[in-house]
Amino acid sequence: MKGKLRFKFKPAVRLLVVTLVFLLTLCPACTQQGEITEEVAFAQARQRMVETQIQARDIKDPRVLTAMAKVPRHRFVLQEYLGQAYTDRPLPIGHGQTISQPYIVALMTELLALKPGQKVLEIGTGSGYQAAILAELTTQVYTVEIIEALGQQAAATLKELGYDVRAKIDDGYYGWPEHAPFDAIIVTCAAGSVPQPLTNQLKDGGRMVIPIGPPGLYQTLWLIEKKDDQFQSTSMGSVIFVPMLGEH
Ligand code: SAH
Repeated sequence: MKGKLRFKFKPAVRLLVVTLVFLLTLCPACTQQGEITEEVAFAQARQRMVETQIQARDIKDPRVLTAMAKVPRHRFVLQEYLGQAYTDRPLPIGHGQTISQPYIVALMTELLALKPGQKVLEIGTGSGYQAAILAELTTQVYTVEIIEALGQQAAATLKELGYDVRAKIDDGYYGWPEHAPFDAIIVTCAAGSVPQPLTNQLKDGGRMVIPIGPPGLYQTLWLIEKKDDQFQSTSMGSVIFVPMLGEH
């Protein structure tokens, strides 16, 4: 009787132990699986974003479309906006600032017409998202942010994702003279007028994209092309950006 009981009991315990060990070893795999599924869902949302918000509004440059489909925008938004990372709108990033609407990022990037290896300067690093898009298109990306906490966070995110972007905390009104001239300059905050240091730091044949106008209202997005020290400005429509800060 005793022997029989032991015989019956042992496999049950063994089964329990095996099940427990199995569940314990499975758990990290489950988490990993969950993360993979989440990344797939984000990639699908990103692809939908490109088709419905960007291609649908006539952005055609295949390199820009590829970059927008590749850069994980959800890594640049605050945790509480994770579910809205691929929606058709700007989102708060703290300190009263915003990450721009995906379409505006694509439009401004397309207007720069960047070629691989060209040097680009961004004023207003913010989350670092626009800088990552630029880094998909060229190897030489420089970005300036005036709010230290944002600049540091953006630099950390970009590094984590493997983007080679040179970032500094400063008043971007003055550009980055040590690395001038630039083939392209993109300003992602609204200035009252075009900062002279930026036009000076633009290469001959270079392009600048900049919103100009009063803070808090609609501004005009301008494409400025420099040729033989002459500037040709083309209006690209109305936009709303946070104002350019600083003491200049
Ligand atoms: N390009 C950013 C969004 C820009 S929001 C992104 O992809 O997330 C505008 C940013 O410009 C803010 O982070 C703001 O702090 C910054 N900014 C405002 N005035 C500035 C200035 N004078 N120099 C540099 N950055 C400035």
